[in-house]
Amino acid sequence: MQRTRVNDAIKSQSFGEKFLLKGWVRTRRGNKNVSFIALNDGSAIDNIQIVVDNEKFGEDFLKPITTGAAIAVEGILVKSQGKGQTVEIQADKIDIYGTADPDTYPLQKKGHTLEFLREIAHLRPRTNTFGAIFRIRHNMAIAIHTFFHQKGFYYFHTPIITSSDCEGAGQMFQVTTLDLNNLEKNNGTIDYSNDFFGASTALTVSGQLEGELGAMALGGIYTFGPTFRAENSNTPRHLAEFWMIEPEVAFIEIDENMTLAQEFIQFCVCWALENCTADLNFLAQMYDNELIDRLKFVTENDFVRLSYSKGVEILENAVENGKKFEYPVVWGTDLQSEHERYLVEEHFKKPVILTDYPKEIKSFYMKQNDDGKTVRAMDVLFPKIGEIIGGSQREEDFEKLKLRAEEMHIPQKDIWWYMDTRRFGTAPHSGFGLGFERLLLFVTGMTNIRDVIPFPRTPKNAIF
Ligand code: ATP
Ligand code: MN
Repeated sequence: MQRTRVNDAIKSQSFGEKFLLKGWVRTRRGNKNVSFIALNDGSAIDNIQIVVDNEKFGEDFLKPITTGAAIAVEGILVKSQGKGQTVEIQADKIDIYGTADPDTYPLQKKGHTLEFLREIAHLRPRTNTFGAIFRIRHNMAIAIHTFFHQKGFYYFHTPIITSSDCEGAGQMFQVTTLDLNNLEKNNGTIDYSNDFFGASTALTVSGQLEGELGAMALGGIYTFGPTFRAENSNTPRHLAEFWMIEPEVAFIEIDENMTLAQEFIQFCVCWALENCTADLNFLAQMYDNELIDRLKFVTENDFVRLSYSKGVEILENAVENGKKFEYPVVWGTDLQSEHERYLVEEHFKKPVILTDYPKEIKSFYMKQNDDGKTVRAMDVLFPKIGEIIGGSQREEDFEKLKLRAEEMHIPQKDIWWYMDTRRFGTAPHSGFGLGFERLLLFVTGMTNIRDVIPFPRTPKNAIF
């Protein structure tokens, strides 16, 4: 007999027909005569109710069917008389695959805190909350590929191991096969010519530079892959290993880039509202009853577009009027998350795209404005999260880019291949990076980034 997924069985109208279901027991309750097993197989937030005639199976057989046990059930689908479900299965046959000793199985019926569940990340996908989150995570990945595919962009795979460190100096994880207990040194420095790649290498902090190479040939590309940053910031918004989506587009300037970013996020959020309704409703009910409204709001409103300088002015005015920030607001420095959130949550009450940042705080490849002070950067700022996207129009002028790289001490010998895009057939182009887990924070309403990735990597933590 073919197994049916719980999600299909609970929607089925085939009353009186036989079904085979397999899953894990969420709860078993009942009385002397009947037992009710709530069975979940991960296909939906909802369980299916299995009705068991105790006499038919015997107490000894039923005893090990406790929370967490894996079972197969054959039985007839009927309309449910009880409250809370529309259909149920009347069990004819039960096979027990694996038991879960109630004395040691950590996921019992009572609600566990998210902190506790982080310590048992190997089991937390079996909870309602994490089942919902990871189904939404999957759906968002599908939304992302769908969005770009429909727009004619190509999924471009950029390397994970890189020998260029011009983006992430100081926050890269080194990759080496050298024996760390026995390092050969020349005049005090390590000789990488004996290392695997014959050069010092690290895990990528961004696929952008290689992404640009793709865009300058295929027109529009996007990357979607793991990204690594050894930044020691133990915040609810930073992971050491996270996933990033980086579209890179030839022939578009900053305004179109902003439009693309807005359309992209709105598409993903709409997708979630349409395809993850039950999971979102569950999360809204459990954690955040404003979640659905917040999601709808973002899909229905344009994002505010504002220059960094205007943003700083607004913040300075706020300070004059008594607003207290932990960090000072100074033109020329990076905005702190508290500043970004003030603009989004209190001042505009809408997502904000800040543009034209001081060149000193941004990367060498961003297009320089005529004022000599700012570059065509754009950060998309979101409620509760702060920065969700960082991007820019890229400097397409060979001489300007070369000069800026030199000013920022990036040797030409490391980026000659990147410079070649400006040497041969250069053109205006733009792109951005969206942190996948930051998007998921927004969509799920979770507040800690460790709760939207199955197995988080953070400072001093790489278990599982
Ligand atoms: P932040 O200021 O928040 O650290 P950033 O300026 O370092 O971000 P970018 O280098 O522009 O970010 O990276 C692009 C996007 O990747 C960010 O907008 C964010 O969504 C995401 N991102 C950056 N660092 C992390 C991280 N450590 N963990 C998760 N997502 C991240
Ligand atoms: Mn950062």
